[in-house]
Amino acid sequence: MFNKVLIANRGEIALRVLRACRELGITTVAVYSKADRDLKHVRLADESVCIGPNPSSESYLNIPAIVSAMEVTDSIAVHPGYGFLAENADFAEQIQKSGFVFIGPDPDVIRMMGDKVCAIQTMKKAGVPTVPGSDGPLPSDPEACIKIGRAIGFPVIIKASAGGGGRGMRVVHTEANLWNSIQITKTEAKSAFGDGTVYMEKFLQNPRHVEVQIISDGQGNAVHLYDRDCSMQRRHQKVIEEAPAPHIDDEARQAVFASCIKACNEIGYRGAGTFEFLYEDGGFYFIEMNTRIQVEHPVSEMITGVDLIKEQIRVCAGQKLSIRQEDIKINGHAFECRINAEDSKTFLPSPGLVENFHPPGGLGVRVDSHLYSGYTVPPYYDSMIAKIITHGEDRRTALKRMEGALDELIISGIRTNTDLQKDLVRDEAFIEGGVNIHYLEKKLGL
Ligand code: ADP
Repeated sequence: MFNKVLIANRGEIALRVLRACRELGITTVAVYSKADRDLKHVRLADESVCIGPNPSSESYLNIPAIVSAMEVTDSIAVHPGYGFLAENADFAEQIQKSGFVFIGPDPDVIRMMGDKVCAIQTMKKAGVPTVPGSDGPLPSDPEACIKIGRAIGFPVIIKASAGGGGRGMRVVHTEANLWNSIQITKTEAKSAFGDGTVYMEKFLQNPRHVEVQIISDGQGNAVHLYDRDCSMQRRHQKVIEEAPAPHIDDEARQAVFASCIKACNEIGYRGAGTFEFLYEDGGFYFIEMNTRIQVEHPVSEMITGVDLIKEQIRVCAGQKLSIRQEDIKINGHAFECRINAEDSKTFLPSPGLVENFHPPGGLGVRVDSHLYSGYTVPPYYDSMIAKIITHGEDRRTALKRMEGALDELIISGIRTNTDLQKDLVRDEAFIEGGVNIHYLEKKLGL
């Protein structure tokens, strides 16, 4: 096992990683920007290093600064968390070349999954169900593209192969608009991602977002930790997640789980990962793979009892997976509400001094947060400040616990989206389960 791990992230996930390291007996190194000196995990870490000024481009995204911090602290491995450099193949490569371990898959695997055309082709080969589409980059001949569009059937969506974060996509409803839209998406993709490769998919009108959590040791042992539903989204940002995904045909989901495991073993995947699917009319359609731990991983931990971060660190230290598929059972249901420092109605960010923080508690309530009374939320980074997670023997109980937990939560001094979350967990359609990805924006009148 590594004796020292550097945590290349901030906020709640840095604290989450620190806690896992402590349990494994690993010495921790925190890195932070100037504004983040008072982060909870920085105070708790065994060592800490300031890696630069406030903008993330000069600190949390600053590869040379992080590599130097590893050198001066004699760290063995780096945990990238999510966001920032977590899916940056060049970073993973740099870490390896400098003689350290990147806690995640091989740089080549990250690169392959970051190229969506390549990812889809790889998944298809492994039997993972994909969206009907162009099966590769679009040709440069308008007639050929129109032919592909006709075969798929309109509406279609043009997507940048190098796209991410919900950018580089364009929906096309009619044949007449197709060629023009392809040209625009290509130009945008070239300037935003430096790669103008685009592909075409059928545009699914009312899908749900259902994803599969996997963990794999890269030694032929991949397991799944069931699925999560993350359909409650605003501007492609997840707001509430739950596990398992409700109202899904068991036969279809078992087939998808099996295909995800097969894919992991075929590409020699190491670490935690997520297969993201759109789910419509009983069918799963792969859209992308995230090669990192995700914000919503706790709901899977709550229903399986598996500590994903500890497993992730272990397998990246070269150990065999300590769990077998047959031992991973679903126990009840879990929800996660993301609490952001933003106004519940306008969604405007609300950084500043947290005068009082009283997290909820009780049976089946977990709070992953770096907040404390007297902490100041800086304006420079993501607005998520807490994750309220509840678990219960069934969906109803877990949701009731979430109602209570949100009612108990007190964060004063700054505005948060807690009132919105209180509304959502009492929403009839949400209580019923299985709303699609447009539900929240429609409800908000967007
Ligand atoms: P990104 O990497 O930018 O997040 P994704 O491929 O995951 O890109 O797609 C982001 C979102 O765009 C999806 O969650 C979904 O809402 C929408 N989307 C993508 N592909 C399709 C499709 N074929 N049909 C309908 N919606 C889609």
